[in-house]
Amino acid sequence: MSTATTEQPTRRGVKALVRGQATSDGAGVSLVRMFPSAQLEMLDPFLMLDAFSSNDPDDYIAGFPPHPHRGFETVTYLLHGNMRHRDSAGHEGVIRSGGVQWMTAGSGIEHSEMPEQEDGWMSGFQLWVNLPAAQKMSPPRYQEFEPGQIPVEERGDGTAVRVIAGTTSAGTAGAVTQIAAQPIYFDVTLPTGGSLHQPLPTGHNAFVHLIEGRLSIDGTELLPGTLAVLGEGEQLEADAGEEGARFLLIAGKPFNEPVARSGPFVMSTEEELRQAYSDYRAGKFGHVAGAHQG
Ligand code: MN
Repeated sequence: MSTATTEQPTRRGVKALVRGQATSDGAGVSLVRMFPSAQLEMLDPFLMLDAFSSNDPDDYIAGFPPHPHRGFETVTYLLHGNMRHRDSAGHEGVIRSGGVQWMTAGSGIEHSEMPEQEDGWMSGFQLWVNLPAAQKMSPPRYQEFEPGQIPVEERGDGTAVRVIAGTTSAGTAGAVTQIAAQPIYFDVTLPTGGSLHQPLPTGHNAFVHLIEGRLSIDGTELLPGTLAVLGEGEQLEADAGEEGARFLLIAGKPFNEPVARSGPFVMSTEEELRQAYSDYRAGKFGHVAGAHQG
């Protein structure tokens, strides 16, 4: 039998549309939690996505004073504003508009995340990515990139893909590498009527979060602030409306392992969670310098 015809890759449709819930976290930061929620507990390997966007300092100025993490990774991507990060191992830096910090908390750090500004816009995302059981107690690690260090693929038609992690269909490789979940994390801008065709590894869980404009995926229309969980298939085909579109495309390999989570800790068993609280109370994570007294 001849197979002269070229088979089209199967399209990933939209399995669920998720609207986030307004909430507050840290010392009183207003944000929209896209998940976890009653609708979407997690999307293995992704544990949480928070979106924040405000030009009212009351919504963000309190920040996230010292708190611990163990057993997973936190990814902070800023669209506007500046956030200072400080941890118990003496690591410190400022994440700036358009910059990203991919923090592998591993065995544990205590850190603070505080706005480095008193007014103006603060907007962006924090994504939590799980670690496989075998890597949960690995040494903490950072991958941090200034806005200018993130590869941008400019296509002739006005399409721009900022490649934080993963590789585009045209071969642009992302800044963040060597992550257990083998993630794709793109910030995509499409012009009026523009399209993105992007292969996604079969078996990776994937979602699109529309930031602005209008986007259509396999006949499903997205409004800004909506997260579309993608179904199975080989390729995303997303089409922008008249006002163009800006969206995050995020995908990762599921670990299919038990997840035990509580507050800032994500482990595999309840016993490991108890151990995390016990270790933190015993001071084994260390403390952010200057943030604790006595
Ligand atoms: Mn944190």
